[in-house]
Amino acid sequence: MGNFPPAASRAGAEPIGEIDVLWLTAGLGCDGDTIAATAATQPSIEDIVLGTFPWIPKVNFHNPFLAYENGDEFVRYFREAAEGRLSPFILVVEGSIPNEQNKAEGYWASFGTDQKTGQPITTCEWIDRLAPRAWAVVAAGTCATYGGIHAMEGNPTDCMGLADYLGWEWKSHAGIPIVCVPGCPVQPDNFMEVLLYLLNMEAGRAPMIPLDEALRPTWLFGATVHEGCDRGGYYEQAQFAEEYGTPTCIVKLGCWGPVVQCNVGKRGWMGGIGGCPNVGGICIGCTMPGFPDKFMPFMNQPPGSLLSSSAVMTYGRAIHALRRFTQASLNKEPSWRSQRGKLGSSEIEASKRERGS
Ligand code: SF4
Ligand code: SF4
Ligand code: SF4
Repeated sequence: MGNFPPAASRAGAEPIGEIDVLWLTAGLGCDGDTIAATAATQPSIEDIVLGTFPWIPKVNFHNPFLAYENGDEFVRYFREAAEGRLSPFILVVEGSIPNEQNKAEGYWASFGTDQKTGQPITTCEWIDRLAPRAWAVVAAGTCATYGGIHAMEGNPTDCMGLADYLGWEWKSHAGIPIVCVPGCPVQPDNFMEVLLYLLNMEAGRAPMIPLDEALRPTWLFGATVHEGCDRGGYYEQAQFAEEYGTPTCIVKLGCWGPVVQCNVGKRGWMGGIGGCPNVGGICIGCTMPGFPDKFMPFMNQPPGSLLSSSAVMTYGRAIHALRRFTQASLNKEPSWRSQRGKLGSSEIEASKRERGS
């Protein structure tokens, strides 16, 4: 629980102040997590910035894609935060962090320019300046959390996730570890729910955010895709698709759901709709620290599933056949109810005779 007082101790206390969310999209990434977040509804960005939740601090949201300001006018908030003139703030990092020391000249990623030298300020410099002053640091998407696609073997940037850059034991000055919300892109509501959790923490209304060993919120990433998949019943009955376009389990087409921690099967993508395997797309493990290298080639059946799906075949088909018998029986009324057809009025019996039924 750390230094976070219970909600009751805030009752009647001074109004909760403001907090800035500084969203740095200057890592190596495609900005897909920002775009994904605009689809969130539980809560939406609008809910957070327009004050739908009266018990959380007022939020000033700074994301380059969603801001009215641009250029130096937008970078101003980041400069002020880096100089200690804007506090408290939550730093959100999107995109992986390159190694700026692996070359003789040039830079891999930057954001804004140094007002004295006119030179680009690298993304690494921003993180070095902002992270020590941040109330909390959130990595949004798998690039920022674990390196993601840009950190594939052989990439020239030596890029990495935030925990590899700052250190897995790193904590903010408020004692909060890096909060990783992986996904490529991040599931919209997962990200916004985590942000809302942190805002509740900041208001003294929530305990320390529970994280697993990969720094993921436990309530979002505790179960596998398979455990929440609409196709799970087909897997159990050994009904495996050999091609796309069927409702059956797609493990043989390359689905990694049985071993991947992700709630998208349960939660869907937007407004509860979608969710990779539910709508026919194999799970490629995009929330996992080993993504993508350990999941490739994507379209092959995961080697580990060969044994389990073969084992399921030995009983799943027999179980399915037996269930069909039971189902056929359950689709018939109990035999004694058929007597009722003989108990109708004389008029009904007469009409039956007339119609020959
Ligand atoms: Fe883009 Fe995926 Fe990286 Fe997010 S995690 S920046 S969506 S590639
Ligand atoms: Fe499991 Fe994937 Fe099959 Fe769904 S489609 S039941 S997640 S193996
Ligand atoms: Fe990524 Fe798999 Fe989750 Fe889809 S179901 S978001 S591919 S981890």
